Amino acid sequence: MLRCEQVELQSLAESYGTPLYVYSKAALESGFTAWQDALSGLPHLICYAVKANSNIAILQCLAKLGAGFDIVSGGELARVMMAGGDPNKVVFSGVGKTPAEIRNALDTGIRCFNVESASELRLLESIAAETKMTAPVSIRVNPDVDAQTHPYISTGLKENKFGVDEDTALKLYQQAQASDHLNPVGIDCHIGSQLTDISPYLEAVDHLLGIVDRLGDLGISLEHIDIGGGLGIQYRQEPPTGPIDLIESLKERFEHRGLEVVVEPGRSIVGNAGVLLSEVVALKHGEHKNFAIVDAGMNDLIRPSLYQGWHDITPLAQRDGASLNYDVVGPVCETGDFLGKDRDLRIEEGDVLAVMSAGAYGFVMASNYNSRPRAAELLIDGHDCHVVRQRETIATLVADEALLPDKML
Ligand SMILES: *Cc1c(COP(=O)(O)O)cnc(C)c1O
Repeated sequence: MLRCEQVELQSLAESYGTPLYVYSKAALESGFTAWQDALSGLPHLICYAVKANSNIAILQCLAKLGAGFDIVSGGELARVMMAGGDPNKVVFSGVGKTPAEIRNALDTGIRCFNVESASELRLLESIAAETKMTAPVSIRVNPDVDAQTHPYISTGLKENKFGVDEDTALKLYQQAQASDHLNPVGIDCHIGSQLTDISPYLEAVDHLLGIVDRLGDLGISLEHIDIGGGLGIQYRQEPPTGPIDLIESLKERFEHRGLEVVVEPGRSIVGNAGVLLSEVVALKHGEHKNFAIVDAGMNDLIRPSLYQGWHDITPLAQRDGASLNYDVVGPVCETGDFLGKDRDLRIEEGDVLAVMSAGAYGFVMASNYNSRPRAAELLIDGHDCHVVRQRETIATLVADEALLPDKML
């Protein structure tokens, strides 16, 4: 029987129903401490990328360990504050920050705005001036490197919407330096997600350090270099590249620079700390294909449909007999609704399957498509189990909707 820490997953499926997200506190913590260990010789700040899994209990565990946070919206900042996060360890990324979000982040006193365009820098300056504050600024540089990952999660190519090129960055730093309301403190990049090769990072960091040198010549000195997130995890047979491999190969570049190293890992902290449990609703055997129809769909876990994400799928109970080849599909009315294809499984209707490595970009990307209430989330700590999000109900689905009054009918 598969377990999460000391708790049998089958018993969780029976008590709490499926689909069900289950997270391990120990795995989450070891995901974080792997980064701490790797960075221990360098001045550093680990800003967990909240978008990977923003459950407030997850954020709370990481805040307790001293994590900082990389946010991409006002909603994420609110979650971080609710979870006891330190605003002085928050960096704010994203290409479309609104005036309200910027104002709120300034008031909250975050560490740094990761500015993505000339227009954003102007907006930030005018809001800071209005409120007589000085905004700490990092410019997100797009180093134009190929992260060799799925195109939807590549962010560091010049055709991507993120960041600015070197010449623009230099101009923006000079503007920031000249402004009474902006303070250039850092430089950042984030080149993509699920990277399994370190060389794109080396290329990107060399590019950033070249800019740091040019800024030095202009009399602008920075406090930190933020290399973003994106380190991959093992879903299948990816080479096991951990924080230690990445940081070891970068270390000498940072020595004697006097720069604090900021990282923004999401997936590599939480990805392998969660599973999605789903029950087999029906088996459909055909001439060409067998389908295992399960009660979790693309609305619960969209990675397979959206970017051909591959997740291992393991039945909780081992059965005897021959396996059959199945496409594991959800109940949503879309052909793209599948969790895995061509899987050899020994299963019967009613069996529960664990979709592995579902801790990152799982629940956070869930929707109510097909009027499906979103799954519950549990956090396991040893023998203890805590519901960190209740299963939605039909009532919660329609709670914010309204019927028309008679006169409009
Ligand atoms: C998504 C994102 C991250 C985290 O990426 P992972 O692949 O989950 O590590 C970090 N920084 C920025 C700016 C992001 O958009």
